[in-house]
Amino acid sequence: MIIAVDGPTASGKGTIAKALAAHFGLPHLDTGLLYRAVGKQVAINGGDPDSPDDALAATTFPDSLLDDPELRSEATGGLASRVSVHPAVRQALFERQRAFAMQDGGAVLDGRDIGTVVATDADVKLFITASVQARAKRRWLEMQGREMEITLDAIEQDIAARDARDTTRKDAPLRIAEGALVIDTTALGKDEAIAAAIAAVEAAKAS
Ligand code: C5P
Repeated sequence: MIIAVDGPTASGKGTIAKALAAHFGLPHLDTGLLYRAVGKQVAINGGDPDSPDDALAATTFPDSLLDDPELRSEATGGLASRVSVHPAVRQALFERQRAFAMQDGGAVLDGRDIGTVVATDADVKLFITASVQARAKRRWLEMQGREMEITLDAIEQDIAARDARDTTRKDAPLRIAEGALVIDTTALGKDEAIAAAIAAVEAAKAS
């Protein structure tokens, strides 16, 4: 069974995808981490994330970079969002994601274009969303004790800018896949959101 989980940044899709993988005994790939690694590698190379050539050169990042805790920072998320607009970068990361989706027994993948591009044949497609304010608040709470210099306002602006870039890019923009079930987590706690996603997958399996 292939489960595609898409949605904007800080919507809870990563938490939900991880929980689904544990519940259904499936391997999980956070595809945002691949784009984050490309963004980070561009910075390491001293390149320009807005240059298609510099961004493409960074797709050969070493696997060890995926363990770098810096990948989770807001700064790297911003770089990831910029390198991800380049079609050549998306193409370079496609095979890796597709192979993960196609492994025996299935998989859970979360990202922006899993249900629309990477695994259009997924058995279940979920689109996780929440208001910008709710997502910013979550990110901010998560960051307490880590990146204290970031204000809630700055995070809200960053999330809005990232949403705009992700939804308006020409290649594989963030959108709700046909047949996807939308789960709005604005008013849901973590456990409620996970329960809603599990119920959606169970229902899709039974139909
Ligand atoms: O999900 P996460 O916030 O880690 O993703 C970082 C950035 O990578 C996103 O803002 C998006 O631009 C890009 N991305 C993408 N396609 C994916 C996953 C992430 O374009 N499948």
